[in-house]
Amino acid sequence: MTRSAALGLEVQTRTRGCRQVLKKLWLWVLDLFFPRKCIFCQRILELEESDVCAECQMELPIYDVTPKSVTGAEACISVFFYEKNVREAILRYKFGRKEIYAQYFGKLMAAAYSAKCPQTIDAITWVPISKERMRERGFNQAQRLAEEVGNSRNLPLIKTLKKTENNPAQSQMQSAAQRRANVRGVYLPVDPQQWVGKQLLLVDDVVTTGSTLAECCRVLLTAGAAGVYCLTLAATRNTE
Ligand SMILES: [Zn+2]
Repeated sequence: MTRSAALGLEVQTRTRGCRQVLKKLWLWVLDLFFPRKCIFCQRILELEESDVCAECQMELPIYDVTPKSVTGAEACISVFFYEKNVREAILRYKFGRKEIYAQYFGKLMAAAYSAKCPQTIDAITWVPISKERMRERGFNQAQRLAEEVGNSRNLPLIKTLKKTENNPAQSQMQSAAQRRANVRGVYLPVDPQQWVGKQLLLVDDVVTTGSTLAECCRVLLTAGAAGVYCLTLAATRNTE
């Protein structure tokens, strides 16, 4: 190596080192004024941690049992059990103005999709919410997750369904039969010519008995989808 090339390399290394120090300093200043908190336990994060603290990272309830069976769907892929800190985090995401969590949740869902979905997917879609619910909440939690997964996996995002009724929340229904009846006929297909004959990935935040996803699958398949795979952030441990 010539002397000038060696000098150039040294300058480059020093500049890179300097940039890293500045970046650390900037993160430290940001943390000082806007402390970042763990998505799951809300503890203030250490400088080297991002999104989740080391303790939660070790203890997250990964969904590692037989996938939920959803009538009409080819499969249902879920990331977490819907319990403890995961449940709290999802409630903050939906009702506590934490739309920003979608970025982190979407990354995990994209990874689960890549690892577990055996089918080539043509487009990604989501479970819609009613206009009234949208006004209250300001965003559709399932759509935000679908956007993140779609961006990360380069899948086209298509609105395939709309909700025509503001029915009571599924969480208020006592039995599986009530849940099925509560969602029957509340979804309608949107522009099916855009997705007829396509394999769809249907995203929702939480699956419990699978009634909502099953009703969406029924409408999608009746309107001409070739097949539907479901992807959720969390799933309850037992069907209620
Ligand atoms: Zn934590």
